[in-house]
Amino acid sequence: MDAAGQRWYKDALLYEVSVRAFADSNGDGIGDFRGLTRRLDYLEGLGASAVWLLPFQQSPWRDDGYDITDHYAVDPSVGDLGDFVRFVEQAHDRGLRVLIDLVLNHTSNEHPWFQAARAGDERFRDYYVWSDTRPPDAEKGIVFPGVQKTTWSYDRAAKQWYFHRFYEFQPDLNIANPVVRDEMEKIIGFWLNLGISGFRVDAVPFLIEPVSAANTAPGPEFDWLHTFRSYITWRAGDAVLLGEANVERDQVQDYFGVGGMHMLFNFEANQQLWLALAREEAAPLVEALRDTAGIPGADQWGTFLRNNDELDLGRLSDEDRRLVFKRFGPSKRMQLYDRGIRRRLAPMLGGDRRLLELAFAVLLALPGTPVVFYGDEIGMGDDLSLRERDAVRTPMQWSSGPNGGFSSAPRSHLVLPPISRGAFSYRRVNVAEQHRDPSSFLHFVRRAIRARRELRALGIGDWEAVRVHDPAVLALRYHVEDQELLAVHNLSSARVRVRGLDADGLTDAFANREYAAASRSVELDGYGFRWLQNVAAGY
Ligand code: MG
Repeated sequence: MDAAGQRWYKDALLYEVSVRAFADSNGDGIGDFRGLTRRLDYLEGLGASAVWLLPFQQSPWRDDGYDITDHYAVDPSVGDLGDFVRFVEQAHDRGLRVLIDLVLNHTSNEHPWFQAARAGDERFRDYYVWSDTRPPDAEKGIVFPGVQKTTWSYDRAAKQWYFHRFYEFQPDLNIANPVVRDEMEKIIGFWLNLGISGFRVDAVPFLIEPVSAANTAPGPEFDWLHTFRSYITWRAGDAVLLGEANVERDQVQDYFGVGGMHMLFNFEANQQLWLALAREEAAPLVEALRDTAGIPGADQWGTFLRNNDELDLGRLSDEDRRLVFKRFGPSKRMQLYDRGIRRRLAPMLGGDRRLLELAFAVLLALPGTPVVFYGDEIGMGDDLSLRERDAVRTPMQWSSGPNGGFSSAPRSHLVLPPISRGAFSYRRVNVAEQHRDPSSFLHFVRRAIRARRELRALGIGDWEAVRVHDPAVLALRYHVEDQELLAVHNLSSARVRVRGLDADGLTDAFANREYAAASRSVELDGYGFRWLQNVAAGY
């Protein structure tokens, strides 16, 4: 097996950011690359090792940039290619890598390819998927139930039906067409040459599944995924593919391995983590971790608490989903597509500092590479008056000044309004104040990330879930080289004394507070946690 530590992405912390919502440098109300570049010191101080940028390419922004009209251009609202390259350079100067979203499953319907295709240009017709008649399965496989009504729409200019897995303004590219695959390689090579370290690949299962109107298409084209990966490895040996593939447990292996993704988001662990928090029982999460263990040595899970989408609970049983809804998203307006919660971390946890610290500790202690969604490190809130997933995409809250320090533009010009009312208003929750206050949540998160970095066993070590008597306790034991680590977390509000853990000779490396030395039993506050390591590897 490879020396695991040499794979940068196995020992990393990713920070997910929307350029448009982060920092506006020119006062037009839209976050931009210059603004983001100025905030790189903040990301370095947080302890991030890579920044994952949500789409920023030229787009009419009908689906938050996932509807691209030019894959080679930076949208003018966020800057130009020069600004992008300078951002990458400055990130590299701070040891930060850059990952970008790769959206190849579809384009915007305003993309010149689609416009040429519908106008009858033969060269581009086959870039998309067409049908003379409305396919009988047009209502199957809808991604956004309630918002989207069909996956085939009629185009009057083309006089044909076209396929769109997502919204009707996002026609799917025809991956069965070798010319389209060649276009995709060109796009990948272009961005790699600008110095990025990899891609978050949008909608992988759809990307590799050819579609035809007759529904005679074969299954997923893993061969093509292999070609795709070897092309990337050839162009940039240490570049990584982080896939969004919300597939069933038994399909996961197909997406990993020498020909697949280097990393996949662990949706299974994410949903079971929320169920575990709702039940105050570690079992669902432990089972998910065991079920998703055993991936190839060079590969890695991406773990997360929340992201820019709704919290998808589609894998849970109806009963379990109801329980998570009841605890973390009880009202209808907090829910989305009948299976998700469109809230941010801090409001879901009721702003309870103990629970917030516990959630971050669990995230950082899970096997995998943690991905932190911008703003969650200061406990930002959501705005349920905004449509769908915009609720969790409000601007970063930098200070108690106008617009939370995000932009000097009038509020009506902002990309989205910053949260200005209630317990999560930027007047109460912002970077500047938490930066000044050593007891703030931001400082806790910084310490936790630093602790994780120093404890190399987390992330790259071999691990096992330790069986303990108390159902509320999540205990993970790691080891790498001479370092041994025991990470113990109490998911319940009741104080516990955990017996049966072999904690002799282990000392606290990081915990929610100072505890008396652990021995045969490990004491934990309600929602408390302790990361213990063997003295030989400590200081
Ligand atoms: Mg701007």
